[in-house]
Amino acid sequence: MNLSGATSVAGIIGWPVDQSRSPAIHNAAFAALGLDWIYLAFPVRPGDASGAPAAMRALGIRGLNVTMPHKREVMAALDELSPEAERAGAVNTIVADGRRLIGMNTDGPGFVRFLERDVGVVPAGRRTLVLGAGGAARAVALALGDAGADVVVAARRRDQADEVAALVKNGRTVPYDAAAIDGELGGISILVNATPAGREGETLPLDPARLGDGHVVVDLIYHPETTPLVRTALERGAKAFNGIGMLVHQAALSFEAWTGVPAPIDAMRAAVA
Ligand code: NDP
Repeated sequence: MNLSGATSVAGIIGWPVDQSRSPAIHNAAFAALGLDWIYLAFPVRPGDASGAPAAMRALGIRGLNVTMPHKREVMAALDELSPEAERAGAVNTIVADGRRLIGMNTDGPGFVRFLERDVGVVPAGRRTLVLGAGGAARAVALALGDAGADVVVAARRRDQADEVAALVKNGRTVPYDAAAIDGELGGISILVNATPAGREGETLPLDPARLGDGHVVVDLIYHPETTPLVRTALERGAKAFNGIGMLVHQAALSFEAWTGVPAPIDAMRAAVA
């Protein structure tokens, strides 16, 4: 890496941000393509994120990712929002077009791109069940609905699930309990766990015996790299994945928005591993 006064700077703001895998992913991508860019992690305290866009303009930073807890707070300080960011109510990517800053959300589109490219599954016409109603669930549910899937949302706070489902084309909710969720499993082909629950020792309200070879199961958790849900789904003959695919593809879409160059997916995936 030859840094100079001409090197373009991108990065991520979050709190905490020291565990983020994004610097490894993006710096590997810049290196793979020989781009004169560098990606840094900026720890930004809660409450300070609305100042980040002004800093970005002043310092000439070309692109930022935005992670917890800043995805909403940063929105008001941007010049423009993409339709995905507007509807998701969250920004995970900022693109600098000169001094004009555009907020995007690549989480949902990244999830769909992962499904289509890595899993080989097109969501259109499929029934999907999304567990959770937080930022990731909302982005994934919106993108699945936009891609033509029927989306069922189940979250422990039913009012939040209703709110997400109301934003989604062909969305509805079911209670977050085993009876209701098991009742859905026979009719769905894609199950997404967008809650942080489901690590070792935690349980999700569903009977793994109802999963089978007709299901694609994606647990958005990527640390640890496997979860009881993924393991059981594989044992039951389902196709099952952790959240690394979504992580890589949302990063790829951010990379492409900043650089205008197709992302080197293999280098990015290797960097996560
Ligand atoms: P949020 O905090 O925004 O939302 C979490 C959701 O899960 C809420 O609906 C919350 O309900 C629910 N929830 C939390 N704890 C439990 C529990 N013990 N049992 C049942 N429901 C629970 O988080 P995010 O949406 O940002 O993240 C969700 C998961 O997705 C995390 O594991 C995160 O690491 C992962 N993720 C992965 C990404 C990837 O690229 N692979 C990208 C973004 C997130 P309540 O409101 O009641 O607390």
